[in-house]
Amino acid sequence: MDVKKILEYQKLDSELFKIEKQLQNNPNKIKANEMHEKMKNSQEKSLKLEERAKKILEEIEKVKKQYKVQEEKLKEFLSKDIEAMSKEELDKMSVLKDKLSQNLNILEKNLTSLAENVNAVLASFNQTIKVFNSSKEQYAISKASYDEDVKVIDKQENEIEDKLKELAKDLDKKIIDEYMKRRKENIFPVLVPLHENSCGGCHIELPYAKISKLENEGILSCEHCHRIIYKS
Ligand SMILES: [Zn+2]
Repeated sequence: MDVKKILEYQKLDSELFKIEKQLQNNPNKIKANEMHEKMKNSQEKSLKLEERAKKILEEIEKVKKQYKVQEEKLKEFLSKDIEAMSKEELDKMSVLKDKLSQNLNILEKNLTSLAENVNAVLASFNQTIKVFNSSKEQYAISKASYDEDVKVIDKQENEIEDKLKELAKDLDKKIIDEYMKRRKENIFPVLVPLHENSCGGCHIELPYAKISKLENEGILSCEHCHRIIYKS
């Protein structure tokens, strides 16, 4: 088999392969993806913060109610006529009063700490929104630059693809099918020369029977790296 033409095809195709790789590693694309990821994360974070703020506010309501109950009890206690009380009753009342004051103090502290938590959550929320907005802005810039790059690259690709189509017309259908199959699997170069007695792609040594098959048929598929080996 004459591999000259398919090698010519591969040479031109290598330019296309290079462009495809460049596009995959395009810095604007990478940046746009990064920013998009950041936007997504900020959004998730803000939802979680919202949920957290809601829970703290519910907790505050609960503590406020408890506070009110204790306050009512204390008021009721203070309105009692102590002059009519016995010493035992007075002692009992005094203990109760201390207990109520203590409870109010604890609840007040709880409220203060909950208010601090809410403030921290709100600050974090604001920060998250800032990150989201700046990511969105940078995403738009990178995406626009990437779209411009794609336009330029598309033109280059189309030109090469047209030439490849022309070259493919002169090629054996079987070989071009085999070639395309590997190309789609991202194997490149598809065709590699036999190097001494080894595959020119993965360098694995071929058994004698395989070399003789290659000599008879002109090409051989490497069982190891699936490239097409030809005899140069
Ligand atoms: Zn190989």
